[in-house]
Amino acid sequence: MHVSEVTKIRRKVLAEVSRLALEGTLEENIAGILSTVVSEDGPRYRCCVHKERAVLKDRINMALSQPIGTPLAEAAGKALGGERADLPAVNLLPEACDRCPIDKFLVTDACRNCLAHNCIASCPKKAIMVVQNRAYIDKTICIECGMCKRSCSYGAIIEISRPCERACDLKAIVAGSDRRAVIDYEKCVQCGACKVACPFGAISERSEIVQLIQRIKDGQRVYALLAPAFIGQFGPKVKPEQIIGAIGRLGFHSVKEVALGADAVALAEAGEFTRAVPAEQPFLTTSCCPAFVAMVEKHLPDAGDRVSTTVSPMIAAAKAVKEEDPSAAIVFVGPCVAKKAEARRYPDLVDFVLTFEELAAMFVGAGINVAETEAGDHLTAASRDGIGFARAGGVTQAVLDTVAHLAPGAALKPQRADGLADCLAVLTKMQQGALDANFLEGMACQGGCVGGPGTMADQRLTAKLVELYAGQAPVATAPDNTAARPEIDLHRRKK
Ligand code: SF4
Ligand code: SF4
Repeated sequence: MHVSEVTKIRRKVLAEVSRLALEGTLEENIAGILSTVVSEDGPRYRCCVHKERAVLKDRINMALSQPIGTPLAEAAGKALGGERADLPAVNLLPEACDRCPIDKFLVTDACRNCLAHNCIASCPKKAIMVVQNRAYIDKTICIECGMCKRSCSYGAIIEISRPCERACDLKAIVAGSDRRAVIDYEKCVQCGACKVACPFGAISERSEIVQLIQRIKDGQRVYALLAPAFIGQFGPKVKPEQIIGAIGRLGFHSVKEVALGADAVALAEAGEFTRAVPAEQPFLTTSCCPAFVAMVEKHLPDAGDRVSTTVSPMIAAAKAVKEEDPSAAIVFVGPCVAKKAEARRYPDLVDFVLTFEELAAMFVGAGINVAETEAGDHLTAASRDGIGFARAGGVTQAVLDTVAHLAPGAALKPQRADGLADCLAVLTKMQQGALDANFLEGMACQGGCVGGPGTMADQRLTAKLVELYAGQAPVATAPDNTAARPEIDLHRRKK
């Protein structure tokens, strides 16, 4: 999988922050990261080394979960003290966002200054004139309707949209008056698609690795809840047991499977389906993807009561751990950025959320090479279907199998949607009764969680490896799994 310079810099910052926090020298050495990551004679992506370091300061604040602009030593001190600012999961780094053009429609060299001048004729605002043998758009008048682009016989007028705007299916990003992107949090569901899309790395998620490292150092029992997409994140040859062993070397007390929580969710959701559909509602949607749930809340609230009332697998798994060990600290480790927002609704259950990328940075900071880590004992306790939640179609399969077991006569007619645009379109149709389906699996990321923004590996490869891993599970379905804990209260907290 191609790793861009943006990704390399982001990972390097996280790894350096981890290294210093683990060494216990973060506060005194935090400013040194500026010269470690951007050297005087290194490659330049900005106008000068000062600008690159200004961008890096924003990145370091995000890596410490402190507001942009906080002096670095102060930010480090706060992070070491366990403080985390009340920030959204996904944030704009203002210093990094200043390269996108503000003009949406541009006349290129392909303009022939033709006789027809269809562009001038098509513009409803008379914003186009000819200047020096070429069409010219007066930006003070242009309303960006795109008529000129459509009218030009040479295709000489192009539309430039910001990569982050294009990536956001919910139109939650607009250009601000200072040219920088602005995230509208009334619309944003923290899916992280814009973070992946920005070629300048100007959108980033907050990270709490320092606060987590301190918690481990303080001697609390810290449990990692490992999402099933972990297979293959550190290379196709690295065994699951090695990843689990490496997490143990970081000082985690124990590793538990989120897929076991998925089994409990499949049982609860299948029960909910057989009780409520069609007696109380025409269809039920899944609730395991927090970005999908937030999309319904913010963009299609009328469909809110169609969403399953069951918690996500992360919360189900966290509840099971808390029952066994009430003073445990719990860390979800997965591909998801939206889980960082979901965890804020359950502060008593989930203490931290780490992406696979952040976990990898912690390994680098600790000098752990996962590929060389000794394999420990590990046998999955989850079912094949529980592990399958990681990829699109997996939840549907699990609920189908469970409904067939619980209520053999019930007719579940599934529909799937992945990607927020698809989710919104399909759910709207189902609300209108335009689809012959009574169960919707909604996943914000293309391909499901294996395509999440915090992944390190190619999603198709991960999907394949997850399938192979699921094939080794001791049981096939949730009802077969005696380790699943459906008796725990699995009701989802609403806004
Ligand atoms: S909804 Fe997703 S893509 Fe849109 S701004 Fe929010 S995090 Fe970015
Ligand atoms: S599809 Fe998975 S990774 Fe993507 S936002 Fe939803 S839960 Fe998170």
